[in-house]
Amino acid sequence: MNEALIGLGSNLGDRPAHLRAGCLQMLQNGITILSVSSLYESNPVGYTSPNAFLNAVVKVRTGLNAAVLMAVLQTIERDAGRQKTDSYTDRPIDLDILFFGNSSINVDALVVPHPRAHQRGFVLVPAVEIAPDWKHPLLEKTLTELLKGLNTDSEGIRIFSSSNWLNNV
Ligand code: ADP
Ligand code: MG
Repeated sequence: MNEALIGLGSNLGDRPAHLRAGCLQMLQNGITILSVSSLYESNPVGYTSPNAFLNAVVKVRTGLNAAVLMAVLQTIERDAGRQKTDSYTDRPIDLDILFFGNSSINVDALVVPHPRAHQRGFVLVPAVEIAPDWKHPLLEKTLTELLKGLNTDSEGIRIFSSSNWLNNV
């Protein structure tokens, strides 16, 4: 069994519903959700859009290896109607493997730790809530330390729902 941190994002349609459905599909695919962060809203990073993102991070346990886990997440993204594009676009759901145990992986199209996780407040703020002492295997700093060194002002991160958003269907 491995523990992993998964980043969830949505900025199209019924955003909380997309995130809940994504978590439900994870459960149906042999992925146990151990903890769930609050839900945050933030401005799109890396491209311009009027549609704000909702983001959260979940800690999971799974017997799947990282490649199979990624395949499951991509199937969930596709099922939600996500279009494959070469650049950032609005999306009903984005599922990223942020960390997979303390593995460092770079095979085919899978890079773990997620190469931009440590630069993003919308990842680190929710991640620190549920895994403050998780160590970045390459940077050898905890998530709390990484967040402390990051200026997240431009992301406009604000709390959207602080508790139990996953179960409030
Ligand atoms: P971002 O990774 O910033 O969320 P995208 O969702 O557009 O941006 O991802 C682009 C591609 O990154 C995906 O098609 C996926 O194949 C690839 N990728 C590589 N490593 C990972 C990872 N750890 N988690 C999620 N996607 C990954
Ligand atoms: Mg992604």
